[in-house]
Amino acid sequence: MLNKNDEVELKIEDLSKDGEGIGHTADGMTVFVMNGVPGDVVLAHITKVKKTCAFSFAKEILKPSADRVEPKCPVARLCGGCSLQHLDYKAQLGFKEEYVRSCIERIGGVKNPPMEPIVGMDEPFFFRNKAQFPIGIDRDGKVVIGFYRHHSHDVVDNATCVIQGAFNEKIVDAIKRYIETYKVSVYDEATGKGLMRHVFTRYGKATGEVMVCLVINGDTLPKEDALVEMLLGLDLGDLTIKSICININKAKTNVILGEKLKSLFGDPWIEDLIGDVRYRISPLSFYQVNPGQTKKLYDIALNYAGLTGCEVVWDLYCGIGTISLFLARAAREVYGVEIVPEAIEDAKLNAKLNGIENAEFFVGAAEDVAPKLKKPDVIVVDPPRKGCDEKLLETIINVAPKRLVYVSCDPATLARDLKILTESGFVLKKARPVDQFGHSTHCEVCCELERFRKS
Ligand code: SAH
Repeated sequence: MLNKNDEVELKIEDLSKDGEGIGHTADGMTVFVMNGVPGDVVLAHITKVKKTCAFSFAKEILKPSADRVEPKCPVARLCGGCSLQHLDYKAQLGFKEEYVRSCIERIGGVKNPPMEPIVGMDEPFFFRNKAQFPIGIDRDGKVVIGFYRHHSHDVVDNATCVIQGAFNEKIVDAIKRYIETYKVSVYDEATGKGLMRHVFTRYGKATGEVMVCLVINGDTLPKEDALVEMLLGLDLGDLTIKSICININKAKTNVILGEKLKSLFGDPWIEDLIGDVRYRISPLSFYQVNPGQTKKLYDIALNYAGLTGCEVVWDLYCGIGTISLFLARAAREVYGVEIVPEAIEDAKLNAKLNGIENAEFFVGAAEDVAPKLKKPDVIVVDPPRKGCDEKLLETIINVAPKRLVYVSCDPATLARDLKILTESGFVLKKARPVDQFGHSTHCEVCCELERFRKS
């Protein structure tokens, strides 16, 4: 029997879906071990005991696994953003591939899923094009900008991050100087008072365009001109700040961005390229965070769609039309549906920007809009983590397209939806994981399904 604060020697046998090591005590109790890697022998310090399992952290690594590496980031454990940085990248890919396979098999009920090998990153560092830094005040009253400490909302003063663009450090420094120089108030989650909430940045990897967006609990900032001047004065090497804006968020919520946007410099958007398709991106629109891997993912989706030029295609959950425009060149017509109005505005502009005339976009919930669209030959869905709405799955089953491409950022909800689809006339032909989120446990998957034909 284990108790809190016990210390036990454990061999780590597996990883949980959240990236914790899993070991078993001599009497068979499952213990989750933070910072444990399969193959390690660790001294686990027990932090919590439940009926069937216990939680712990690796106090000492007694014998390291061959897959254990030193995290590149000195604050990886404190931050919690990268729960797998201590695991060799190849082993991370193996873990993700296996997790996807097991979801499709266990939850999806598909025996021996037709998996293609996971697509990993060539260089798994400094890949993210989006960063969000909370702003806070520490115990000594000093302004801190960085990340939330693991499992808390204490802001750790550190903008150095090995998976984001290194230029962010200079931007964060400038904003800190601005807050201190002009004594701008900082938002306090407890009271809902104070102005500065978050620094949000995005950049176009292909264009070098940078957007800086300050999320504030108010309508204006003091000395806006001085802030703009401070930011534009930064030397960001090959990158150029093209857009500085404020986002107004007065709600007492954990949601980072509010709905209103005001430009302080330039337009409230930047542009980027994926392959040779140009995209305009506003801060309120969803845009994939890993541009190198996104190109690979979209190429797989296009390949799975098997277009010949004559098809009517639906692209549901289309965001700013990224996949739609990739598909439009190979299809007869594409219909994109997305719930965020700003994203659809971007999508329409993006079609124009690229001279694409056979793509049409609609604002609304995919489950409501899809039944009203022209009957498709091929459907592509790319839902958020919660997966497809049940009503939408019903529509897909009823309109019976020749092919369905399912792009997912959550293997578990993907598998839940695959179960419904494969029980209702679809066959899973291929599934390929693509690692968009190195060092985290998240994984993107692209699946090809076909209508089952009776022979
Ligand atoms: N295919 C796009 C976006 C995928 S992210 C790309 O690759 O960039 C999922 C998108 O679904 C987000 O843009 C989100 O705003 C949108 N969304 C969420 N719920 C929705 C719903 N019920 N109907 C339509 N779109 C929805």
